[in-house]
Amino acid sequence: MKNILILGSTGSIGVNALNVIRNFPEKFKVKALTVNKRIDLLEPQIEEFNPEIVVVNEENAAEQLRNKLKGRPAGSQGKCEVLSGIDGLISIAANLDYDILIGAMVGFAGLTPTIEAIKRGKRIALANKETLVVAGELIAELCKKYKAEIIPVDSEHSAIYQCLAGEKNSEVEKLILTASGGPFLNKEKKFLENVSVEEALNHPNWKMGNKVTIDSASMMNKGLEVIEAHWLFNIPKEKIDVVIHPQSIVHSMVEFIDGSIKAQMGLPDMKLPIQYALTYPERCKSDFIKTNLAKIKNLTFIEPDFDKFECLQLAYDVLSSGGTSPCIMNAANEIAVDRFLKKDIKFSQIPYLIKKALDSVENHKSTDIGTIFECDRQTREFVQELN
Ligand code: MG
Repeated sequence: MKNILILGSTGSIGVNALNVIRNFPEKFKVKALTVNKRIDLLEPQIEEFNPEIVVVNEENAAEQLRNKLKGRPAGSQGKCEVLSGIDGLISIAANLDYDILIGAMVGFAGLTPTIEAIKRGKRIALANKETLVVAGELIAELCKKYKAEIIPVDSEHSAIYQCLAGEKNSEVEKLILTASGGPFLNKEKKFLENVSVEEALNHPNWKMGNKVTIDSASMMNKGLEVIEAHWLFNIPKEKIDVVIHPQSIVHSMVEFIDGSIKAQMGLPDMKLPIQYALTYPERCKSDFIKTNLAKIKNLTFIEPDFDKFECLQLAYDVLSSGGTSPCIMNAANEIAVDRFLKKDIKFSQIPYLIKKALDSVENHKSTDIGTIFECDRQTREFVQELN
């Protein structure tokens, strides 16, 4: 029996992780769940999975939940402690008895608890790409030192992880990340200037949270994934390619030095990479809908347009600059996306604000955790005020 801690249990990855866990009551036990503030969604999860502890980030919501759980009806099994804030998150990651941490929080907030789990040599099923984007160098070092293993949950990185099984890193020619191209694949660059929030949120293949859906429309999501792949697989950026594949059936590929290419395929369903990360190195029978290639018929591949999707180029650029520039790019993007969702800036201003931040916020060569936090804070402040 493996004990599971889910950071971010009410987001789309968290909910899908619980959908996987539900199918294997003999294999997995939910030990703790954490949310930002959606206690209305957390409550039924507590009833069904009976975690020992939950952490609610916002103090008011945590207090509300404590009061509600006092009157927990008869038939509920055992007590559920409610903690709050970042202290609560760090405390459970550092002290609770668990085997696998599922890092499914949105944005930068998952970094510190993830580091705590790494220091304890835990398995991290990582869906939170910002962790590797802002602190990839640090995380890679810590994983080595504490013998923690990161199994990616992002569909592309799970695909690469699966393609690399049994292979040598020295025989990899390149990683090929596939991208759906998002809702604006066939639009002109000029069209991107005036797209609405609703148009940008309308992703053709995947149903995801708002932040990552906007990142898919700008292709920043793929940029973040290039950086993520670089740190996760220890492969230089020159050996990481992106190819647009609108059907989202090939989740990514690895080309080897002899010219052979391995791909991992399947219908777009996040439950598959989540289950793989939880059961690895085993595979377990699933009831997911099986992929019928004859029905799908065509798989197409197109080169990405770096001029139209400036955010993708920016991600390669910050890998060249190194230091804290990926952290600056990530923080600037988070604020810019938030402002776009609030209709405060135009879609085409997202890369513009990021470039401004990269020009203005100091790039530190050392990437210790204190520097990263300070750099993140400065960038957010800067981009929030920028016009
Ligand atoms: Mg992905």
